[in-house]
Formats: sequence, C-alpha cells, structure tokens
Amino acid sequence: MKESVAFILVLCLISSIDLSAQKLNKSDRVLIQNLKQHIQYLASDELEGRRAGDAGEQKTVDYIISQYQNTGIQAMGDNGFIQSFPIDEGKKFSNNAFIKINNQEAILDSDFFALSNSGIGNFSSKASITLHESNQVWFMDVNDVLEENASNPHFDLNEWFVNTANQIKAKGAVALFLHNSGTVVDNIRFNKYDTAKSLALPIVYFTKQGFNKLFNDELATYNIESNILFEHPKRTAHNVVGFIDNHATNTIILGAHLDHLGFNQDKHGLDLNNLVHNGADDNASGTAALIELAKSLAKKSPKNNNYLIIHFSGEELGLLGSKYWLDHPTYTGHFNYMINMDMVGRYDTARKLTIGGYGTSSKWSEILSKTPTPLFIHYDSAGTGPSDHASFYRKDMPVLFLFTGSHADYHKATDDADKINYEAQKDIVRLVQNIIKTTDNYDKLDFLKTREQSMGKSTKFTVSLGVMPDYAFTGTGVRIEGASQGKIGEKIGLKASDVLVQIGEYKLIDVMGYMQALSKFKKGDKTILVIKRNGEEIKFEIQF
Ligand SMILES: [Zn+2]
Repeated sequence: MKESVAFILVLCLISSIDLSAQKLNKSDRVLIQNLKQHIQYLASDELEGRRAGDAGEQKTVDYIISQYQNTGIQAMGDNGFIQSFPIDEGKKFSNNAFIKINNQEAILDSDFFALSNSGIGNFSSKASITLHESNQVWFMDVNDVLEENASNPHFDLNEWFVNTANQIKAKGAVALFLHNSGTVVDNIRFNKYDTAKSLALPIVYFTKQGFNKLFNDELATYNIESNILFEHPKRTAHNVVGFIDNHATNTIILGAHLDHLGFNQDKHGLDLNNLVHNGADDNASGTAALIELAKSLAKKSPKNNNYLIIHFSGEELGLLGSKYWLDHPTYTGHFNYMINMDMVGRYDTARKLTIGGYGTSSKWSEILSKTPTPLFIHYDSAGTGPSDHASFYRKDMPVLFLFTGSHADYHKATDDADKINYEAQKDIVRLVQNIIKTTDNYDKLDFLKTREQSMGKSTKFTVSLGVMPDYAFTGTGVRIEGASQGKIGEKIGLKASDVLVQIGEYKLIDVMGYMQALSKFKKGDKTILVIKRNGEEIKFEIQF
C-alpha cells in the first residue's frame, strides 16, 4: 500500500560494473557460499518456520550464537547472547472447557464459541429453545435483536450483551445461547485480546452450522452440560544480541529479524494453509546478511564506532522484539544510527533495492552518494515502515531500511531458499559494509523526522483509507498518525490517535491484520468502519 509515496525518490545508481560480467574474487565467492549455507539451513523445514517462542526459533537462536563463537563478538543479551521476552498469546477457550448437547460434544469454532468476555463456570440444564425458565439455559436469536434495534443509531451489541446478561441472570438464567437465524452480519467474533469485564453469565454463540446440527427441533428439550473456561497462555521469545567493541563513543546498530510465521498459527500468512512457512527471503536473508556482516566487522572494522548486532524475534507479531529491546536495552550508550535488513534476498533490476529511511538524517544523501554499489536503488525517505527500524526511528534515531521488494511468495509457504538471488545479496552486504566505512569519517549523524509513510512490504491493495498507521502502537487495533487530504479517512473526519478497530467483518488487531483486511475490498465496496476515539466507539459507513 502506498499511502503517501509523493516523496519517494527514485534514483538509479548505474555503475560502470556490469553485474553479469563481474568476475568474483575469492572473498566474494566465500561470502556467497556462506549466505547460501545460512539461508538453506534457516529456511529448511527443520526450523519449522522459526515462529517466535517455538522450537524452530530456539534452533535459529542456537545457530546464530554458534556462528558467533570464537569470533570476538561479545555476548550482549541479558543471558549470554540471549534476551528473552514474553509474548502474550491472548485469551483462548480452555482445553478443559466443553459444551455437550444430549451427550454430543459441540465442536469449538465450527459449532460454537463463547464470547471472549463470557462469564465462566459449570452449568447443566434441561432447556427448550422457546422457553425462558429459571435455572435453565436461555436461547435468543441475534437476528431478532438486530431487527428490533435496526432504527436505533445508538444501539451497541456489546452493551446489549452486558445488560442482557445482568437482566436474565436476575430472572434465573444460567447461561445464554445465541444464534443468528437471519442474513444480517452480526460481527460477533472472539477477540483474544479482549480486556472487557466478564459478563454476568456464560454467553455462547452458535454458528448457523452448529445450531442447525445441535438444535434442530424447536419443541424438544435439550440436555445441556457445559463448563466454560478460558486460558491465557504466554510464550517466551528470544532476541540475540552481540557487540563489537572499538572503545568508540558512538555505536551503530545493525539489525534483522530472525522469526517468521511457523506453520501460520498466528494467521499472518497470506495463504490459508498450515504448511511450514520457511521464510527464506523473510527474513532468513536478512539474518544471513547480518551474520556475515557481524563476522566481518569482528575481524576488521572501521574504528570510530562500536557495533551492536541485534537479531530480533517477534517481528512478525508486531515488531515485538525491537520494541522490547528498546524498552529493556541490554546495552546503553550513544547510538549513531540503525540499519535494518528485512527481505534482502529477491533483488532484481526491475524491483531494485529499496533503501528506506533516507530522510531520517540530513547526511544520508551525501553518504549514500559517496558509497558505490552495482545495485539499482530506489530511495524512500520514510523512517517508519513495517519492520524493526520503525521502532528505532520512533526513538529519534537515524535509520536505513534495506529491502528488495515484495513478491508473489511473500508470507506464503513458497518463500523458499532456491528463489534467493545470492549474488545480489552479496552486493547488499558489501553495500552495508561500505556505508559503515563512509560514515566512519562523519560525526554522529543528525536526526530528522520524516512525514512520509510507506508500506512497501505488503500485499496488493486496490483500496485505501488514506490514513497513516502508527507502527509503534502496541495496543489492540491500528492507531493512526493522521489522514491524507482528500481520501476517505479525512472525509469522514478521522484524526491522529484514532484507533481503527474494525472494517466490515474484520476485527483489526494490528497493522498486519489491517492490511490483510484492506486487501479483501475493492473499489466501490460499501462497508462499515469502527474506530475508538477517547475510549468511545464510533461507527462509520464508508464506500471505497
Ligand atoms: Zn514478514
């Protein structure tokens, strides 16, 4: 998505070197060989897609650390090279919870789900759909509720849940079973990040399929047994941090995220399968490049800076590792600038190498023009963007973001090692080495704020709201930094710090989910947009 690409400068640096005719020297051949070896291992099925906090991530971490043994790279995590941090997996229906109707167990998700703020507990009942009796389960049809309130612009289903739960509990109901017999979309979903207060009694929503299967007779009495319980699991992810000490005043941070999507358990994949998502380009490529950079700097480095090497985890879940590191730095000192490599394996001359963050220091244009490379480059001034450099930019640090562009395999199980352009990746490593060399003759770089946003790494969009997401926002939803003139967002009056929480039937958990939701719409589609402003939900009807 390109919300504001007006300031993207497209400069092609065409050097006199013809890539195809370039004769590789020995160190280039070794570098290519090493990159290949790293990526082939990191993107192999054995690493199970490197999902943050899972066994495949641990193997990734072990591999990176093994690469740094006996290189002179100092461990700079809080437990050797490692910095652990928690990942909140959100609320889920407990494995011990169940619903049985006439001794038949209802199937979670396909038959039913409990509302995420449902009351909890055991209950049993002999209930009939049309009767509302004391000490029994009550049934209600959401379609009736929506129809009754169709002309009430202030009607809020969440409020209705709260009030109804209180009222029917007072009348003796032990639980409420909902279904929707109509065609109006009710948008009732399980929100795993729900922090709302528990309702007065259990409320369970039955899907059309579940309701028709389990309650097919209006007049029958159903034998219901249930226990509604939730779990709130957390897992532990790991950043890997190393340090190369030149006893200099300033430190350059070099970063790349090590995690990917695993078997798509977190549903950030753009394909709908549960195959291993190897993530060769995203981001075994950046990881491999960072390993090679770190090892070369450990051997010999420009002396006017120290180098902090950070392999972030949890990037795919919302830049979690970089945000955590910045909140809990394992090294404090004077930071010069940060370079992030995320997806640097698919260079071709048409796609070019994007260098983002070009506008984050007044010195970048001069520095980059002094740094030779055979690669075709596409400059993007934005300091934000969908990767870890955005976290550092938020802390007023000059950043560069290296990225060879999105492609058909992005966030799919087909992002594999055989599709990597290793020779160009070698040139990217050389480019970063040369940028570091050039900046060795400069003082600490000044920082500039950039207004432009870019979402280079994304799916194809045909619609947009014309808003700028705040990538550093850690709450549920998408907080915006502003709305572009003349676009939908501005027209309906969206403003900075509004939080988008729902588009159509899609609840928006984070920027990634927002992008995925947007990609489902096309020009002319009518839908609803729900936002939160000062804690209050506001609903808009929009047309793309
Ligand atoms: Zn990714």
